[in-house]
Amino acid sequence: MLIDSHCHVYGFKIDELKNFKEVKIIGVAEDYESSIKNLELSENFSNIVPFVGFHPWNIPDMRNKEIEMIIQLVKKSRGLGEIGLDKKFREKYLDSQVKVFELFCDIASQNNLPMNIHALNSWEECFKTITKYNVKRVLFHWYSGPTHLLKELYYQGYFISINPAVVIQPKHRKILEEAELEMILTESDGPYMYRGMYLNPSMIRDLLNFIAKVKGAKLEDVEKTIEENFSKFLG
Ligand SMILES: [Zn+2]
Repeated sequence: MLIDSHCHVYGFKIDELKNFKEVKIIGVAEDYESSIKNLELSENFSNIVPFVGFHPWNIPDMRNKEIEMIIQLVKKSRGLGEIGLDKKFREKYLDSQVKVFELFCDIASQNNLPMNIHALNSWEECFKTITKYNVKRVLFHWYSGPTHLLKELYYQGYFISINPAVVIQPKHRKILEEAELEMILTESDGPYMYRGMYLNPSMIRDLLNFIAKVKGAKLEDVEKTIEENFSKFLG
């Protein structure tokens, strides 16, 4: 089975989504509307696993009661995300980011839900927060943080996802080389243009091949391990 563990499914046209039916996709959200959209899409597409969340980039545009409205949707979802902290693009709003993130960590912990985390330039902070709240199942999406933190994530049973951009992003490739296969998931983060690459779930097959090549492992073994990792993450 092909796995896309982090994808903004609501951003695709329905006709395009139909092309990704062989990929099991976690649909992450960025606000109230996309959280609703993910839940609706999962009713029509059995390969979509709906998450609800609030992206740290949207903190400046957060509306009154929006977080409470998203929290109302949690019981219909399979997990929380995309949530987290971002000190690269939204450092000015860090206090509000922390408040929202901690609130979601608390909900994940209380309800034993998986979290799909955005942690750009905030890898250590996010790690500290999720361990403080004792969140059990966590995915650090498109991990490009410090390599020394990988061991701690692995020890805690947390996961990271590798993006198709790994072929052109040396920092991310280094992570792929260093990380244990037992902590790796595949993702597209689509639909998104990254340095000329149109990221979408149809890239997962090539990504698996690339991972197998870098890891010096058999494609079937890599596919099977990632499938197992996915089951552990979702619970
Ligand atoms: Zn994303």
